[in-house]
Amino acid sequence: EAKRRGRGRYEVFDPEMHRRIRHVLELEADLRLALQQEQLYVVYQPIVDLVTHQPVGLEALARWHHPQRGPVSPAEFVPIAEEAGLIEQLGEQVLRRACADLAAWQRTMDAGAPESVAVNLSRAQLRPGHLAAAVSAALQDSGLGAQALRLEITETLAMQGESAHGVLAELREMGVSLALDDFGTGYSSLASLDQLPIDTVKIDRAFVAKMVHNPYQTALVKSTVQVADALALRVVAEGVETEAQADALAALGCHAAQGYLFGRPMSAADFAAWWTTHQSAVRTRPAASLPAA
Ligand code: C2E
Ligand code: MG
Ligand code: MG
Ligand code: MG
Repeated sequence: EAKRRGRGRYEVFDPEMHRRIRHVLELEADLRLALQQEQLYVVYQPIVDLVTHQPVGLEALARWHHPQRGPVSPAEFVPIAEEAGLIEQLGEQVLRRACADLAAWQRTMDAGAPESVAVNLSRAQLRPGHLAAAVSAALQDSGLGAQALRLEITETLAMQGESAHGVLAELREMGVSLALDDFGTGYSSLASLDQLPIDTVKIDRAFVAKMVHNPYQTALVKSTVQVADALALRVVAEGVETEAQADALAALGCHAAQGYLFGRPMSAADFAAWWTTHQSAVRTRPAASLPAA
């Protein structure tokens, strides 16, 4: 409350900020209601092997369709949920939905169903005891084993704190795997890759976008892959939109990729159909001529 009043004081000085604050407070109230009514939903984006272009995994992404405003981006509502103390509730709903959907695919697909699903975690969810309990409950209710879950975390300065490390260790002990998301942005550094209990590094979209024809960005990606290889970490490139990017990443030894070139985030039903088609498709053409999904 003190924080909220503190923010509110700016309105006297700046009408634009006043408008902005009101917008955020309205969204916060609406998000609280949407969570109570479980109106958020989850879409899934495929991850493919960069050599074979076969699907190897998927990421769950939260979506909110506001009744008046239409779709609101997670880039907007996740920070609001964090500030409003709603992120654990949001995270738990996404986790449960993702686990339930994966379990359903594993029951219904003939063969080669996805083995695991990746779910994003906010730094504010890394509470000792609480997160591990929520994860166990979601796994237990869906009947999945811990190996079916990959949790994505973004490195922040705070990540270097003791308690965050403790929570990550708890998850690893359970058998859940961890990926470092958005690598190359924020505070992430090559030197930190052996400090976190991760098994995957996801190279941020901004990196991938700047890479083609840019020797410096290419060198950064190349070093990341080399360091990751030395540590036996899997590298997934994010935001791959063009054949040129996919080819360049494959040439650098990057293992897997995610992006509009291969598949957009899709509803659970669309994803199951996409997966079944692409999983069984025998690749007869070189990667460069495969159509975008
Ligand atoms: P992220 O985890 O790095 O997810 C990848 C984002 O890149 C997604 O944005 C995805 O739609 C987008 N993307 C994938 N391929 C492409 C591409 O080829 N081109 C472009 N331009 N974009 C691509 P989205 O779904 O808007 O999510 C944004 C961020 O919000 C996520 O980034 C993640 O940090 C956060 N987020 C999403 N869902 C959740 C959630 O359930 N919990 C938490 N804590 N954060 C979430
Ligand atoms: Mg992610
Ligand atoms: Mg990312
Ligand atoms: Mg992100």
